[in-house]
Order: sequence, then C-alpha cells, then structure tokens
Amino acid sequence: MKRIGVLTSGGDSPGMNAAIRAVVRKGIYHDLEVYGIKYGYSGLIAGDIHKMELGSVGDIIHRGGTMLYTARCEEFKTLEGQQKGIEQLKKFGIEGLVVIGGDGSFQGAKKLTEHGFPTIGVPGTIDNDIPGTDFTIGFDTALNTVIDAIDKIRDTATSHERTYVIEVMGRHAGDLALWSGLADGAETILIPEADFDMDQIVSRLNRGQERGKKHSIIMVAEGVGNGFDFGKRISEATNMETRVTVLGHIQRGGSPTGFDRVLASRLGAKAVDLLLAGEAGVTVGIQNNKLVHHDIEEILSQNHQIDLDMYKLSQELSI
Ligand code: ADP
Repeated sequence: MKRIGVLTSGGDSPGMNAAIRAVVRKGIYHDLEVYGIKYGYSGLIAGDIHKMELGSVGDIIHRGGTMLYTARCEEFKTLEGQQKGIEQLKKFGIEGLVVIGGDGSFQGAKKLTEHGFPTIGVPGTIDNDIPGTDFTIGFDTALNTVIDAIDKIRDTATSHERTYVIEVMGRHAGDLALWSGLADGAETILIPEADFDMDQIVSRLNRGQERGKKHSIIMVAEGVGNGFDFGKRISEATNMETRVTVLGHIQRGGSPTGFDRVLASRLGAKAVDLLLAGEAGVTVGIQNNKLVHHDIEEILSQNHQIDLDMYKLSQELSI
C-alpha cells in the first residue's frame, strides 16, 4: 500500500482534528502518501481530494470541529454513489481509506469494504454510542462542556431556588446525560435506555423540598423527549418554579480535552497500522485502555449498551 485517504463524516466531534493529524503523520511515518477528502462522502463523490503533508495538520490538535469539513450525503447511500466514490479513489491511486465518524458513516465504510475497497472506521461522535469501544472521540469533551454549563446553571438555580431541567444531546444514547448528571449530582436523569415513572420523579422532588432542598437539576437526554414538556409537567405536578435549558450545539464544539486528544491520536494511528497489516472492514476502539478492532458488520449489528449499574448508582446517590 502506497497511498491512503482520510475523511470525516456525519456530525462533527471535538478530537476529529487530532485523529486526522494522527492518520496523516502515522501514514507519512510509514512512507505512505496521505490524501485528505473534504466534506465526507460528498467530497469523495465530487473528487474533492487533496494531498496532505506533515505541515497540513500542524496547529490543529487543539482545535474542535474538523479541518476536512463534514457533510451528510444521501447519494452515498445508493450503489451508484458508492461506485462513483470508488472511481474517485482509484483515479487518485488511493488503496485504503480511514473514515472518522459515527454509525451512519460506518454504514458507508462497510459498503466500501463490501465493494472490495479496504476501509477502517474510527469512532468520532459525542454520543458515545458505538459498540466495541468504551469511549468515542469527542465524548469526554462534550461531557466537560455539559458539566461546565450545569455548574453555571446551578449558581442561578441556587440563588433563585428553582428547579432546572437541562436537555442534552443523545437521540439514542443516554451516556452524556448519565455521566454529566452523575458528575453534577443531578436529582433525576432521564435516558432513552431506561423507563421512568413521573410519579416517582415528582415524589423525589417533593421529598427533597421537604428536607429543605431549595433547587434541583433534572437531566433529560433528547431521545427521551422535549425538555420544555418535562419542565411544564414538573412545575404543574410540584408547584415548583421550573426553568428549562436546551444546551444544543455548544455541546459539539470547543477545544478537545486531553483525554480526547490522546484517544484520537491512538485510534487514528491504529487505523493506519491496520490498513498496512492488510485489515479491511473493521472499526478501531479502546476497551480497558487497550486498543482493539472489531469487524464493522458485527459492530453495526449490535446495540449500544449503557452502563445500567452507573444509572442505578445515580439514583441511589440522589435519594
Ligand atoms: P454519523 O456518522 O454521525 O452517524 P449520519 O448518520 O448522518 O452521521 O451518516 C453520515 C453519512 O454516512 C451519511 O450522510 C451518508 O453519506 C453515509 N451513510 C449513512 N448510512 C449509510 C448507508 N446505509 N450506506 C451508505 N452510506 C451511508
């Protein structure tokens, strides 16, 4: 293998730049030529493909977002779109590809491998919802962004003696809500992986008030429902003054944490090693602090598992 490509696809996450840097530098370290493909699969189809040098990835390790830009591309879901992408890769003499993104992007990577083009997936998403890895690139940064926001909201919640509902990202995965809620002592955490009982939530809030608690934080993962609806239901059921904050896209931005930079560097470099070892159709990950790789088909057939013991602990600590 002489020439490889790298692209970022789907939702951006902090640390993607550090992963791109690792792919480029590890590739060049091994005397490969590395090509950056802009705008995900859209840029692949369009041939928006550029040779990267050591300096192309200088000064990006600490930046959020992705220097290769990202996009969603419906055309790549079709056989014709995938074939156009492979034609472009061949035109540029690229023999292996690293795709940094979430499970949607991995579907595209799987298709490329099925068509005979060696592709490796690197998990980049703030949702932490990819099986086969304990952490995805960007989760730790988003977690710390949410914690910082809750700390600030808590100051106002305490001063005004209010109940705050905070909606965080996570359509199918409650990791961000669970980890940030546990880290910030939230009274209630609602995640898509666990049923909840509104009566129980209300009685817990009332119990807290009876023992002199003056404010509460309720975390809601977006997959559970709309934060404003919960706010309304809670204020009606408890008579407590309730405010709602939807954190939105601030959760996706910002300089990556040390953890995410290191994780991204390790996973990006591992993807290059795997391509050189002749692997294809696998995703990289970290489990028990060891780098691992799994068959992409197997990963895509599994559902993300949340740590239900941690969820139980969050409930035990907020009695
Ligand atoms: P994420 O990677 O963050 O989960 P998306 O689900 O939006 O983001 O997927 C990103 C892109 O991956 C899509 O816009 C599309 O180009 C590609 N993709 C998603 N699903 C498939 C599929 N079944 N086949 C081929 N490509 C796909």
